[in-house]
Amino acid sequence: MSKPRVAVHKFSSCDGCQLAFINLGEPLLVLAGLVDIIHFAEAGPLDENAKIDIAFIEGSISASHDIERLNKIRENSTYLITIGACATSGGIQALRNMADTKQWIEGIYANPTVIDTLDNSSAIKDHVKVDLELWGCPISKQQIITAIRALLFGVLPIEDKDKVCMECKRQQTVCVMVTKNEPCMGPVTRTGCGALCPSVGRDCYGCYGPAENPNTQAMANRLQGLGLIKDEAARRFLFINSGADAFHQQGTRMKEAD
Ligand code: SF4
Ligand code: SF4
Repeated sequence: MSKPRVAVHKFSSCDGCQLAFINLGEPLLVLAGLVDIIHFAEAGPLDENAKIDIAFIEGSISASHDIERLNKIRENSTYLITIGACATSGGIQALRNMADTKQWIEGIYANPTVIDTLDNSSAIKDHVKVDLELWGCPISKQQIITAIRALLFGVLPIEDKDKVCMECKRQQTVCVMVTKNEPCMGPVTRTGCGALCPSVGRDCYGCYGPAENPNTQAMANRLQGLGLIKDEAARRFLFINSGADAFHQQGTRMKEAD
């Protein structure tokens, strides 16, 4: 029986989620025996237009030629899985969606005419069908292993939608909001990271995006109760996942009310 064919593609991103793959360690050696890695530019193999069983996509759509490339990848792939905040919500670069892109480019580049960019940075799901989203900035090794293991058994993995707070409770991590008055975004952020930040005594800043049914207004009230001014509280939502609906709506509502 032939092995499943896997590709890892990159759009606008910092490469951190691809590095999460490369840093898998021993499981990467096992994985290499179970699947054929056909395209993964950062790791070596190059065949971008090959027919693939599982395509992982890192990065957001932010240049005009990205859309044509993405459509071709979708056509060639049985399963398409987005990895990381850039691919799932537009990423940190989606902050420009709330600004004047032309003005930013002129302020940054000496020769702005050579820059080919769209006005917005958008998520992959805004352009093609996505079979599974892995959130995070970056994604964790555990998410990759869980996803690939499920797909090798012919099923889609169960999505993590719980709040980070649930993970703190499971791990018996002391709550940094309750004990240290830290403005932790855990009550509205999806888990998948294993409550990494609270486990080392710091607040979650929402890099895994909105959890299922997040009460963002209550979160905003609590942040302000902890001493953040309205603009600071809005920025907790308008950060790495500013393009995710629940965070975007809460953050912009607070900005507009200023
Ligand atoms: S530390 Fe943050 S994520 Fe953990 S329980 Fe407290 S509020 Fe929730
Ligand atoms: S605790 Fe929050 S900010 Fe830290 S890794 Fe997890 S989701 Fe990201």
